[in-house]
Amino acid sequence: MSHTPNTPPVGDEIFLLKMGEMVLKGLNRRTFEERLMGNARRRLQKYGKFRIYSRQSITYIEPKEAGCDMEGAFETLSRLFGVVGLSRAKACEKTPEAILETAKTYLHDDLMAASTFKVESKRSDKSFPMTSIQLSQFVGGELNEAFPHIQADMHTPEVVVHVEVRDFAAYVHANPTPGAGGLPVGVGGLAVSLLSGGIDSPVASWMMAKRGVALEMVHFFSYPYTSPEAKEKVLELARLLTPWCGRLTVHVVPFTEIQEELRRSCPEALFTLLMRRFMMRIAQRVAQRVGAHGLVTGESLGQVASQTMEAMAVTGQVVSLPVFRPVVGMDKEEIIRIARKIGTFETSILPYEDCCTVFTPRHPKTRPTLEEIQEAEAALDIEGLIEKAVAGIERVVLNP
Ligand code: ATP
Ligand code: MG
Repeated sequence: MSHTPNTPPVGDEIFLLKMGEMVLKGLNRRTFEERLMGNARRRLQKYGKFRIYSRQSITYIEPKEAGCDMEGAFETLSRLFGVVGLSRAKACEKTPEAILETAKTYLHDDLMAASTFKVESKRSDKSFPMTSIQLSQFVGGELNEAFPHIQADMHTPEVVVHVEVRDFAAYVHANPTPGAGGLPVGVGGLAVSLLSGGIDSPVASWMMAKRGVALEMVHFFSYPYTSPEAKEKVLELARLLTPWCGRLTVHVVPFTEIQEELRRSCPEALFTLLMRRFMMRIAQRVAQRVGAHGLVTGESLGQVASQTMEAMAVTGQVVSLPVFRPVVGMDKEEIIRIARKIGTFETSILPYEDCCTVFTPRHPKTRPTLEEIQEAEAALDIEGLIEKAVAGIERVVLNP
């Protein structure tokens, strides 16, 4: 069996990733493809050595050595944004007989479970002795004899048997499984996400990452009012997001002094809003440091007193960067559904206190005016408080 060193041995499995909407984006396409391949390469590092390349909006991932963890790799790739569908394909010799035999064995379970099918062939090796149509007819006819329960159906088949004849081997695969969708992380720029220990902010972060935005996380930590476990919980949430977002840095900001100062010198009813204004200001400082162009929060309109439109206006007013609130129009149930899907829900509901709950006012203001807020802040050394908090930031890096 002839075999070129750069390709997987015949008989190996490879993965095909179908890219999403980025194929539509003309000139950006190459950038997107390269980003996708780079992201895939980093995520696959711990599963073995792989060769990764793109042809006609398909990314091919081939093991370069024996012993790659193919299950783990496939699982990881199913969380790679920018991929709409993933297939596992089997490489075989470039003869009609080998292709047929591979389809029969490798796709046995898919074919047994289906009642209709069709074969689709592609040929980049033009020296192959059959045309694509002839090859499809041959494989389709033979499969029909081997699996008499299935009908050929050219329009809405349950299983499509894909055959590709390429330079060094032929590949056989069936229906793709759905990918994570979205755009490759990084093509949408960089934003700073305010990550609490709740349900909403991990979902908001995930939704931005899905649109191709790379993230740096900011968490406000109020030791000793909140416990080290509460901080660990947030770091765990960030870690749970890394299979989707890639490596994440969490900037842990000491927030106790600001909260104590606000409690000492400001009207209780405004406490939450004043606190959130500080969070936004500090998050913007972090954004400037890391070169990010937006802020992300898990706010949802009307969910709590600090999330009315007036409250959002007042908290957004202290920053010049755009504030993205991807869950703003979602019901709690919808947010929870996503939290479960992405794997953060169980951690989010662990019962550790959050810095916001520690000082919750009894009667929070839902329709604040900017004048009263600014009056309450007038006596504060805002710049001094921010600088001190920023100077105390601890950075924690989390890898997928
Ligand atoms: P979540 O479920 O995300 O905690 P929430 O419904 O509890 O949200 P709030 O506590 O009012 O809402 O917080 C609104 C948003 O402010 C959060 O989604 C998050 O983006 C940000 N935020 C709140 N507390 C913190 C914190 N301690 N550190 C970082 N960001 C925070
Ligand atoms: Mg919260």
